[in-house]
Amino acid sequence: MSQKINGVKGMNDLLPGEIEVWQFVESTARTLFGRFGYGEVRTPVVEDTALFVRSVGEETDIVGKEMYTFEDKGGRSLSLRPEGTAPAARAYIEHSVNNQEPVSRWFYMGPMFRYERMKTGRYRQFSQIGAEAYGAKEPAQDAELMDVVVQFLEALGLTDVTLNINSLGDDNCRPAYHAKLVEYLNAHREELCADCQQRLERNPLRVLDCKNEKCQAVAGAGPNVLEFLCEPCRAHFTDLQRKLGVLGIRYVVNHRLVRGLDYYTRTVFEFIASHPALGTASTVGGGGRYDKMMKGLGGPDVPAVGFAMGLDRLVLLLKEGGKTFTQRPDLFIAVADEGSQDQGLALASRLRREGLKVDFDTRGGSLKSQMKRADKSGARFTLVLGEQERQSGQAKLKPMAGGEPIPVALDAVAATVRAQPEAPAPVPAV
Ligand code: AMP
Repeated sequence: MSQKINGVKGMNDLLPGEIEVWQFVESTARTLFGRFGYGEVRTPVVEDTALFVRSVGEETDIVGKEMYTFEDKGGRSLSLRPEGTAPAARAYIEHSVNNQEPVSRWFYMGPMFRYERMKTGRYRQFSQIGAEAYGAKEPAQDAELMDVVVQFLEALGLTDVTLNINSLGDDNCRPAYHAKLVEYLNAHREELCADCQQRLERNPLRVLDCKNEKCQAVAGAGPNVLEFLCEPCRAHFTDLQRKLGVLGIRYVVNHRLVRGLDYYTRTVFEFIASHPALGTASTVGGGGRYDKMMKGLGGPDVPAVGFAMGLDRLVLLLKEGGKTFTQRPDLFIAVADEGSQDQGLALASRLRREGLKVDFDTRGGSLKSQMKRADKSGARFTLVLGEQERQSGQAKLKPMAGGEPIPVALDAVAATVRAQPEAPAPVPAV
């Protein structure tokens, strides 16, 4: 017997029955981003490795340890994208979008790849929905972007999520904070975990978001980035908070929030869910301002702010909510005899064209076994088609939840099914 081949570790299949919740999240995102004027962008899953090295940063875990990098047959170093901001920025620069419009708002969704240690909510192929706003440096843009996320989470019915915000300053004020932080961490080196002792050499800011309790205690007592902000950065952060107030968005200022990528300036933010299903993978999304990235990638001097949310984690939370997302069939057509099989097939086809979701067992079989399958399908009604129905053109719709059968003409099935009051749709309209 041939040996079975399994999927790649950390990369999941999504099968019918499970995919519906994903589709719900995706369609909700499309509706909401559309409302805010964000257009969808799709970039390739593979990019020049240098793109991530120069934007995300060589010293980050993502680039340093987690990228799927390979050489193509032409000897180029390519990487599966570990995130979506840099590819979108690359596309923005390549297509000179800044020459066409002063402000652009984009969103994307799709798979990202990171060679990470797996656990619940952390995979090697995962999906992100993200949005980027280019061309506006004002705090109103940061606030608007957070509002998209807030409204998106509301539309999904996920309300138990806390927004954390912080400011990392800019090239003007960050070096002084950085120097103070390194000095402080060096003085507490022995109290840090082994990973953080290394981070201290390569990327000291990362010590601040280590999950280790001892490191958190050290970081918590360390210098506060907000006290180092220069006047323009302080004004930006203050105004952002005022704007969030105007929008009625609740938030927590968390001076230890740094996020793991190098490209942020000023605003950073994270949305953290408190549900135990996510364990330590409780950050459902995050983002920030990256005013210097475009220039650093050889593009125009265009400010930008963006975020990314992890779909896998949103889906985990929604599944915990116990709602069903599968759309059940309107009708199951069963045939009473062999001779009605063709008409059953044709009737199913016609009703689908007329817009009904119809289930029909192409294998035929006994009426009893078909009725069992009708039950299992969750269909609202079953229609049995036999010689008598074919001759008379009349049949009955049997409500599967119980109740009296409804007489129906075979050429009026769709209208009759539609006329029956239905339980509320499982997918809330947004
Ligand atoms: P990041 O790009 O690291 O800021 O991640 C943004 C969001 O993507 C996180 O808040 C998670 O929800 C999600 N995410 C990041 N890495 C993973 C992963 N390995 N598996 C699943 N979701 C992830």
